[in-house]
Amino acid sequence: MQYISTRGGIPAISFTQAVMMGLAEDGGLLLPRTIPRIDAETYSSWQDLSYTELAFEIMSRFIDDIPASDLRELINRSYASFDCEDVVPLIHQGPLHIMELFHGPTFAFKDIALQFLGNLFEYLLERDQGVMNILGATSGDTGSAAIYGVRGKERINIFILHPHQRVSPIQEKQMTTVTDDNVFNIAISGTFDDGQAIVKSIFNDIDFKNRFNLGAINSINWARILAQVVYYVHSCLHVRRHESDKSLDFAVPTGNFGDIFAGFIAKRMLPGGTIHKLILATNSNDILTRFVNKGDYSLSQVTPTSSPSMDIQAASNFERYLYYLLDQEPDRTREAMDQFAQTGQLDLSDSLDQIKRDFVAGTATEEDVIQTISDFYQQQGYVLDPHTAVGVFVGQANKKEGVPMICLATAHPAKFGDTVHTAIGREPELPKALRDLADLDSRCELMAADRGLIQDFISNHARHGLQPI
Ligand SMILES: *Cc1c(COP(=O)(O)O)cnc(C)c1O
Repeated sequence: MQYISTRGGIPAISFTQAVMMGLAEDGGLLLPRTIPRIDAETYSSWQDLSYTELAFEIMSRFIDDIPASDLRELINRSYASFDCEDVVPLIHQGPLHIMELFHGPTFAFKDIALQFLGNLFEYLLERDQGVMNILGATSGDTGSAAIYGVRGKERINIFILHPHQRVSPIQEKQMTTVTDDNVFNIAISGTFDDGQAIVKSIFNDIDFKNRFNLGAINSINWARILAQVVYYVHSCLHVRRHESDKSLDFAVPTGNFGDIFAGFIAKRMLPGGTIHKLILATNSNDILTRFVNKGDYSLSQVTPTSSPSMDIQAASNFERYLYYLLDQEPDRTREAMDQFAQTGQLDLSDSLDQIKRDFVAGTATEEDVIQTISDFYQQQGYVLDPHTAVGVFVGQANKKEGVPMICLATAHPAKFGDTVHTAIGREPELPKALRDLADLDSRCELMAADRGLIQDFISNHARHGLQPI
């Protein structure tokens, strides 16, 4: 499988080159040249595969430059760190199926992609005798998932900036108690946006980036999307076992459009009608809902909510979908993205019919989230985290009689105990691994939000070695 840029400015590259490149060098995003189709017979034959066997079947259709036995081993190792054999169990709650994506080491769904990406980076660096220094800013969840993805790895150091005292105490503990030699937590005195701005400007320093082989771990890496395609297919097969061959809907709480874009790929791959609609759910940061409902993709202010991992305006994976919407024409994609960069706005109302073939969208307010957590607890005895509640609220509002619905549960409720407490009058029980964090040593540098200081710190603590080719 060859990979191309949405903006058409680079020659086609292989899967492993795409993983190492992250963002395409022309500023676009990388995509497989074609989306493989799975025929009905093949799909049926996957019925009884385990999660990791299925992952191999799917991923190997997108990867032709890693030997099969190595890929199997990478997949098995990545999901052995999950605390349940199914990896992503489906819980049947009334008319909905809840797909629990939070059984990895940091209790949020980003582990599914980042456990795999961490092992993949390690494997490729070993193969090419290279090293990498990962740099990222986090508002909470991504940082810990990235750190757990690469902790203890030989050829990788990781530097994660978080805003001092502005992440939740659990999130802070999750990051700073990882004291492996290759992990550097930096608490900056400033906001998440300050951290993000510093990271961006360091990546723009091309000399520095090349000298230390800086790697990014944000959601634009194609390997992250690919790992997420697997659970869509896995849950379709699971529901099929119980409810025969019905079309089904997915409700997806959305921020950067990564998770739901993986659903879009799954929808295209599977036999027609397997996935009926992808229900895109936003909190009050609703740019993507406006896009689906009106074709209006225009920036506004970021509003903080109880689902912070979705407090996003410009969605970093949006360009991937835009490319398909614009008939896979890189010139049109580039023009549209240039226009968006200049004006903060795109009018895609001409494409509304096509958008609505794939998506339905809605928004949950803060009151809706609290009410949904409370109602769901009273009616089903099941505790939702606020992100999942956004999806469940919008999913319920769009539930079609006779169409099974799978709601993606993206975080363990204990990670967002305050909001859950408000909704149900008590904190959810902490899993043992989170309780134990309180007793662990932690390590973290506190630094001013100053690019120069942070760049010096990285220079002094970077992993040195040959660059991968
Ligand atoms: C990152 C995240 C999301 C949003 O996922 P996207 O891929 O950015 O749409 C939703 N819920 C939780 C808990 C997350 O960490």
